[in-house]
Amino acid sequence: MREPNVQELKHIFRILLDTYGPQHWWPASTRFEIAIGAILVQNTMWRNVKISIKNLEKAGLLEPYRMYVASSEKIANAIKTSGFPRLKTDRLRNFLKFFENFSFDFDEMDKLETDSLRKSLLSVNGIGKETADSLLLYIFNRPTLIVDAYTKRFFLRLGYSPLSFKEKGKSQLMNALKNDPSELGEFHALVVQHSKAYCRTKPLCDKCPLSSICEFGGAYYD
Ligand code: SF4
Repeated sequence: MREPNVQELKHIFRILLDTYGPQHWWPASTRFEIAIGAILVQNTMWRNVKISIKNLEKAGLLEPYRMYVASSEKIANAIKTSGFPRLKTDRLRNFLKFFENFSFDFDEMDKLETDSLRKSLLSVNGIGKETADSLLLYIFNRPTLIVDAYTKRFFLRLGYSPLSFKEKGKSQLMNALKNDPSELGEFHALVVQHSKAYCRTKPLCDKCPLSSICEFGGAYYD
């Protein structure tokens, strides 16, 4: 097991970027669409969420106040491809109720310091750490590290200690990316891409561009 190392992390970032190119995340045209996508993507694949977002758009619901006043049935019907439509409708409603406190204006939320913004987001039933950090990073352009299942699996396989995801390790990981939200956002997108391409549940280590620096190099399986 090893601890995060700034030079090595930069090297990993460079290899991933050279391999996959910029990922252009988050794939959405408005900040509201990012928020809705981040809630809908919980426990499902992005391709399912894309269909739901299209359905919401067709139903005229991809606007905060219109979704706020819409019936639960109408929302649930539009988002059913994302799975758990009733639960996710409740989560969207919880977010909208919270958002109403800011007059449905992300610029108002932007006035909060990062720590209190994160705490506020986490107070919404249905927004956990991963979703809150996605919103912080991709909507509010705040430096944070998204620690999702892909990220944990990837770093553990590389040989990093689980402590890498605790506060001290996280700040080292973030330092390696200059605490720059655009690099942190790109890094997260690249880790997700790499986890789908090579570092899968059953990893394709023999073809992986990181095999020479990966401690487990394919010997590790979930
Ligand atoms: S060598 Fe294997 S375990 Fe390591 S990052 Fe690549 S695919 Fe994942």
